Amino acid sequence: MGAFEGPDLDPTDWEAVRRESHRMLDGVLDHIRTLREQPVWRAPPAEARAAFREPLPAEGDELSAVYERFAREVLPYASGNAHPGFMGWVQGGGSVPGVLGEMLAAGMNANLGGRDHMPLEVEQQVIAWVRELFGFPAQAGGLFLTGTSQAVFLALLMARTRELGPDVRRAGLGEAGLRLTAYASAGAHGCVAQAMELAGLGSDQLRRVATDTAGRMRLDALRAGLAEDRARGLRPFLLVGTAGTVDTGAIDDLDALAELAAREALFFLVDGAVGALGMLSPEIAPRLKGIERADAIGFDWHKWGQAPYDAGFLLVRDAELQRGTFASEAAYLRRLNRGLAGGEWWPSDFGPDLSRSFRALKTWFTVKTFGGRALGRVMARCCELARTLAQRVEAEPQLELLAPVALNIVCFRARGPDADALNSEIVARLHEGGHPAPSLTTIGGRTAIRAAIVNHRTRREDVEALVEQVLRIAGDLAAERGG
Ligand SMILES: *Cc1c(COP(=O)(O)O)cnc(C)c1O
Repeated sequence: MGAFEGPDLDPTDWEAVRRESHRMLDGVLDHIRTLREQPVWRAPPAEARAAFREPLPAEGDELSAVYERFAREVLPYASGNAHPGFMGWVQGGGSVPGVLGEMLAAGMNANLGGRDHMPLEVEQQVIAWVRELFGFPAQAGGLFLTGTSQAVFLALLMARTRELGPDVRRAGLGEAGLRLTAYASAGAHGCVAQAMELAGLGSDQLRRVATDTAGRMRLDALRAGLAEDRARGLRPFLLVGTAGTVDTGAIDDLDALAELAAREALFFLVDGAVGALGMLSPEIAPRLKGIERADAIGFDWHKWGQAPYDAGFLLVRDAELQRGTFASEAAYLRRLNRGLAGGEWWPSDFGPDLSRSFRALKTWFTVKTFGGRALGRVMARCCELARTLAQRVEAEPQLELLAPVALNIVCFRARGPDADALNSEIVARLHEGGHPAPSLTTIGGRTAIRAAIVNHRTRREDVEALVEQVLRIAGDLAAERGG
């Protein structure tokens, strides 16, 4: 307790708490400044986990002692995504302005469910930027969420409302709901199937459309699937295009999908978790053509946008459809046209969350501090590093590239007997050695090392180190087998 001795929970000794606070801020800045000197990842030792567990404390500790435990027992065992050598899955590195924005947001302790206050204006500002970025009309709506998984789920519910009418909210899916079918590429993220499950539509009703050699949804297969389902009396309602698949970064032909969705009266959703913010880069934006025609776009500021977790985002063309899907009238949420219960925009009308954090502030800080051009340059550099990695792989006879590089993701592997097991072992050893950390995936039934370059801190030397370490470990393994 120490500096907190009063009846409320505020400091009694503000000067002592101020000193501690500055020390913690220094600690986190030092952590970020020295990331490159740290291993990408280290496993939390069993003793550390055991030592950390304790019963609910009845009495408090000194703030400084609580911080010491964090610094010693939590901070060193991060998941690594802030590190320049982290290339696993698709995760962002965060940024210092984002850290500060998050701190200030916590200081305000704002609840962005509704009412009349300036934090909502900050969220509206980011929404306006997003509208502008994607060429959406002024009446389009937006919302911060935890992540793209939630954005996809909410958009799917809107598509359902559009197809079945607002009564579906009260009456449930009924007979018609059993016949709804959705379409996404075989490379689409698992959150699309999960959204079908959560919505009660069933993941069997999601058609996983075959992809071409570049990993894009095949239009002929999509058209054939639609025709077949319609002939069977089913009701296609949703088409999900992917702007950067999670496995290989493939971008669907969004323009053609938008065209088809319009013709077939399907709700067109773009999963842009990997690539949508590429709109900020003049090199990447042309490849996203058609995204401006979507009914909704889900993406993550916490990935390529470099805002700290979590900062998912949903952009919706028809904000009234969104309100009609989620708004409910409850007496305790009564709106007034004056005072604190006023305010024109209540985000709780546009999604399932009533209490909402101030995710907009860390994003606003990040965008304001760097500007769109610098963020776009980071994305272009990630793509350039991916091409460099692909070239290095192709130049090594012991390595092979497993998928074309469309964006910032490279899938490759070491050649050798029992290559699936070999490459799994290589990735495990990379992680455990604290080396550059890619993840694993399966490409065409073959185990692949997958490097997604999302972090603004990643440099050419990290990509070179990845290739060197893969070759070294493959060599060690061959020697172990031989010996
Ligand atoms: C990461 C990702 C998602 C899920 O986003 P979350 O923010 O983790 O919920 C969806 N789609 C793709 C393509 C992704 O890469």
